[in-house]
Amino acid sequence: MNNPFVIQDLNCRKDIGANCLLIQVGPFRLVVDSGMDPKHLGNDSLPNFSLLGDQPIDFIILTHSHLDHIGTLPILSKKAPKAPILVSIPTSLLAPLMLNNSYSVMCRQKKEKEIPEYPLFTKADVLALEKRFFTLNFGQSYTLAKEGHSAKITMYPAGHVLGAVSVLIEYEGRQLFITGDILFSDQNSLRGAQIPQLDHLDVLMLETTRGSTERTALRRNEEKRLLSIIRKTIERGGACLIPAFALGRIQELLVLMYNAKRSHQLPNCPIFCSGLGMSLINTFDEMGKKLRSVNFSRHILKQLNIKQLRRSKIDPHTTRLKRPAIYLLSSGMLAEHTPAYNIAACLLGDSDNSICFVGHCDPTTPGGQLLQNRNAETFTFEESHFTAPIKASIEHFDLSGHADRNDLYQFAVLQHPKAVVLTHGDPDARQWFADQFAKNASGLKVLDPEVGVPYNL
Ligand SMILES: [Zn+2]
Ligand SMILES: [Zn+2]
Repeated sequence: MNNPFVIQDLNCRKDIGANCLLIQVGPFRLVVDSGMDPKHLGNDSLPNFSLLGDQPIDFIILTHSHLDHIGTLPILSKKAPKAPILVSIPTSLLAPLMLNNSYSVMCRQKKEKEIPEYPLFTKADVLALEKRFFTLNFGQSYTLAKEGHSAKITMYPAGHVLGAVSVLIEYEGRQLFITGDILFSDQNSLRGAQIPQLDHLDVLMLETTRGSTERTALRRNEEKRLLSIIRKTIERGGACLIPAFALGRIQELLVLMYNAKRSHQLPNCPIFCSGLGMSLINTFDEMGKKLRSVNFSRHILKQLNIKQLRRSKIDPHTTRLKRPAIYLLSSGMLAEHTPAYNIAACLLGDSDNSICFVGHCDPTTPGGQLLQNRNAETFTFEESHFTAPIKASIEHFDLSGHADRNDLYQFAVLQHPKAVVLTHGDPDARQWFADQFAKNASGLKVLDPEVGVPYNL
């Protein structure tokens, strides 16, 4: 039997965007992920669902609960009303929280940005989804059966973020493996990916997020550098803002700070937190009790003396923030209308303070703009109508939840696939992998698929 897999990228753009992949394998039609493109608004942020056609979908599989992978699931699920949704146990708990938060953001943006189609779904839609979740343990397989054929699906822990999985699809002796977003090295709060050596891999679908980034420092060294900046800031009486993604990054930084406190590497000062990151804490705590791969317990909040930051009334024109203090706040890219955005505005004009970015900042976001212009004289927070001189120290740390390109390349080569499909990356990131494979693994088929085009593999 030749080429049993047909894959079709339903993302509208060839970038990280709204992840959604249609896979046909024998008589089965599967959709992996249903993301929302964070760089676009309204209907522009959806995958191209029209490419699904009229044929029924047998199964939806989610790799993890970041919105670029699940943000449009309530919409897809209505187009595939009978398809069970295969997820890991942590994802079954996190996805509804993430989607309900997304609903609230869309309701706000409907007025602020005048987007009539918002919200794209309701809380009742999210509730309906939960009944359709079919949970699998890591390493556990599920067999689909139809028309005398069967396909087996197995999920393996992918590191990256709580609940993230890589997916192996086996059909009549053929194997297709999807890395999803993946990190091989351990984080403080989560073990790295645990992927077995596959014996006859036909197709490897490889995420390429960091293909255009050369790692310049080890994760452990970056953590030490961050702790050192925090210490220096607090010692001179300043405030340190760490804007971080709500899902995964906030919890990872809490564990990092807790470990530092136990070894006297973190000075005593109030730590303020707020936002979605804190709403997810209970799930991290619950999974910390159940899964050996998760190192998180809510008791560290008490040990760190975490205080909830009251969301309202932070206005850079009038607010005087408590100092010295650490502000660990959701919105890794300083999105407008978040406490992180307003607190950055409050802190920027004083050289005692520091702003520490710990993840990727898209250049179009306020965080990305601030990083790009950190050597300028002033910076304007447009949404607050506030311009400040750039005096605080602005730092960027490489603490990504994605594997770096050399680790991913090594992984791909060692799995000996017959074909590699490049996904989840900007064009230059994909190109780095294409060049590496062409140079060092000639004979390996490498596909950088065009969006919307079906490929037989
Ligand atoms: Zn992710
Ligand atoms: Zn992603």
